[in-house]
Amino acid sequence: MTQPNCKSNINTGTNANTKTNSETQTFDHIAFNNNSISNNFFNHTDDELDCFAPRILNWFDQNGRHDLPWQQHKTDTPNPYIVWLSEVMLQQTQVTTVIPYFKRFMRSFPTVQDLANAEWDTVAEHWAGLGYYARARNLHKGAKQLVESINQTGNFPQTIAGWEEISGVGQSTAGAIVAMGLHGYGVICDGNVKRVITRWAGNDHDITKSATTKELWALSERLTPTENSGDFAQAMMDMGATLCLRRNPLCQQCPINTDCIAYAEGKQDFYPVKAKKKPKPSKFSNALIIINPKEEVLWLQRPDSGIWGGLWVLPLQFEKKILGKSVVSTSEQDTAYETENSVAEQIIDKWISDNNMVTTSISDGLFDSDPIKHSLTHFDWYLQPQTLVLDSKQSQFITALLQKADINIIWLPIAKAKATLGLPKAMLKVLEVFD
Ligand code: SF4
Repeated sequence: MTQPNCKSNINTGTNANTKTNSETQTFDHIAFNNNSISNNFFNHTDDELDCFAPRILNWFDQNGRHDLPWQQHKTDTPNPYIVWLSEVMLQQTQVTTVIPYFKRFMRSFPTVQDLANAEWDTVAEHWAGLGYYARARNLHKGAKQLVESINQTGNFPQTIAGWEEISGVGQSTAGAIVAMGLHGYGVICDGNVKRVITRWAGNDHDITKSATTKELWALSERLTPTENSGDFAQAMMDMGATLCLRRNPLCQQCPINTDCIAYAEGKQDFYPVKAKKKPKPSKFSNALIIINPKEEVLWLQRPDSGIWGGLWVLPLQFEKKILGKSVVSTSEQDTAYETENSVAEQIIDKWISDNNMVTTSISDGLFDSDPIKHSLTHFDWYLQPQTLVLDSKQSQFITALLQKADINIIWLPIAKAKATLGLPKAMLKVLEVFD
């Protein structure tokens, strides 16, 4: 097979393997898993496709991040638990935010068995503030599944298919774990990789379509070397995070700029192409701060499924949902009431209304005109803090009512709840009014 002459037009540093005084550098050919894919499918030539990885790996060697606490590429005994934990944390969250959370998790749960054996409340408290709480539930469930697999087979899953069976692990995360956590062959195609390769390949198809996803996976597989796919995965993550940025990518420093189609066209911002989304609905709810005579506040544990699954929150009272300028539903409409409120919230809401109790807005109209906004994937949630002060008979009554319905509740002063319950960020925003 003829060896391609891979060239990069940047000077990437002073590594001993690099020609530092030259405008161009050449790299050795490396092997690819390209048997099943026709090269006619891609916008680049065979040589350009083969030269992608060597240039990226060379750049990573000299300019990539090599000191992230979860990286396993410099060890001969990689730990898949560490890679799995970090990959789940890094979904939708930036490296700088994840680092302190990751370190605290590793201190408290140094092994997958420690995480599996931990109480959910402890895991939730460690996760609090990282957002997308379904990930934390999947992590806890996944730890139990992994321990089961280890008890049966003596080891972590060793294949991509095996990892995909673990709760919360998709195709790209499984590829990353096998490549980086087991030093096997794995391909990744997450958001960062998609941005880099759609720009490089000039792929102008809508990335929300499954046909485009297939194209990008095929391209990522074609570009991934069979050797060192873990280093390549880390290099691509670094490329997306430090060079091929969402806005103002640093193309001058990019090792693949000589044949990047977006760069040649001056259309970096055009890629990746994503069909415009419909505007998100907005939902308005009261956040009830129900206080007993001991100045303790009522906290409910949310159902496992749905938003903030399994976490402790204030009771919410659904008010209305708005799409554009139209009101889609209100609390007066039965179906809206039933779908928007948990069973516990329905019980509290009915009790308040049956007893003609009145909740009070916390501060002189501030929150009436400017409620707390919490943005979620599918809607913006506006929360309005309201207080309801109970006498001891009322607090005993609502406690008994909720316990009879098997709802997990706890009465705790605000400071203690903040310190021990692992409250979601939106609840902390609501409580800021008491700081
Ligand atoms: S040249 Fe620019 S747009 Fe193209 S891959 Fe590199 S950083 Fe991204």
